[in-house]
Amino acid sequence: MFNHLQNKKHRIRSGGFTLMELLVVVSIMALLMSIMLPGLTNAREQGKRVVCMANMRNLTDGWLIYSMDYDDHLVSADTDWDVPPSNHWVADGPVIPGNDVGGTKQAIANGVFWRYTERTLELYKCKSDSSDLLRSYAISRAMNGKTCNCEHDNIKPFRNWSEISMPADRMVFIDADSRMGWIEGSFCAVEQIDAIPPKWFARLSRNITARHSDGCNVSFADFHCEYWKYRDPRTVKLAYWEMSPDEASEANPDLDRMLRLLRGQRY
Ligand SMILES: [Zn+2]
Repeated sequence: MFNHLQNKKHRIRSGGFTLMELLVVVSIMALLMSIMLPGLTNAREQGKRVVCMANMRNLTDGWLIYSMDYDDHLVSADTDWDVPPSNHWVADGPVIPGNDVGGTKQAIANGVFWRYTERTLELYKCKSDSSDLLRSYAISRAMNGKTCNCEHDNIKPFRNWSEISMPADRMVFIDADSRMGWIEGSFCAVEQIDAIPPKWFARLSRNITARHSDGCNVSFADFHCEYWKYRDPRTVKLAYWEMSPDEASEANPDLDRMLRLLRGQRY
C-alpha cells in the first residue's frame, strides 16, 4: 500500500511543472512575443497602406473620368463651398466661425467629385488615419488649385488634363493631415515654389502626414501610386507639428522631393 502511494505521488510530481520551469516558459513566451509583435504591427500597417493606395487609385480614376466628362477640365483641387464656380471636389468650406458643414459627410457629398467615387465615403479615408477626419486626402494645388496670394506659392496650376506634361512626375492625391476638423484647400506644403532656399509650409488646417511608418502615399497624373518613406527625421517631426517649418527646411531631401511633386507649371 505504501509503495503504491509513493508511485502515485511520483507520477503526479513528474506530470506537473516546478515554479522554475513555469518561469522559464513564461520568459520564453515573453521573448517570443517581443520578437513577433513588431512584425505583426508592421504587417498590419502594410495592409492599411495597401488599402490606402487602392483608395488613391480609385480617386485618381475618378479624377480622370471627371475631366473626360467636362471637356478636359480638371476638377477643382480646392475645398470651398461659398466661392463660385462650385466645381470643388469636396465642399468643406473655409475654417471660419459658423461653418457647420466643414468636416461632415455633407461637405464631401456636396463636392462635384461625389458621384465619381460612387458615393463611397470609405474611399476618402485612409485606414491608418486614426483622427476624427472623414477625409484623409488632398489634391495638389498644381492640379487646378486656386493660387492663393496669402501664401505666395507662385504655382501656375494645370487647368486641363491634356496639358499636363510629364504626368508620371506630377502629384495628384496625397495623404494629408489637419487638426482643424478637415483638410483645408488644395495641397501645397511649401511656402513658395521658387523660393531660394526653399521652405516647408504647414498650418493647423493642412499639413503633411507621416502616418504610414514615417511616410505617406502619393498618386500621380499617369495613375500610378507610390509609397514615400521620408528620409529626413525632421520631416516626420514637422508632420506631427513637433518642429517648425523653418527648423525642418535646411538641406532637407524630402523638401526637395515635395518641390518636384508640386511643380505643376510648364517649363
Ligand atoms: Zn494613407
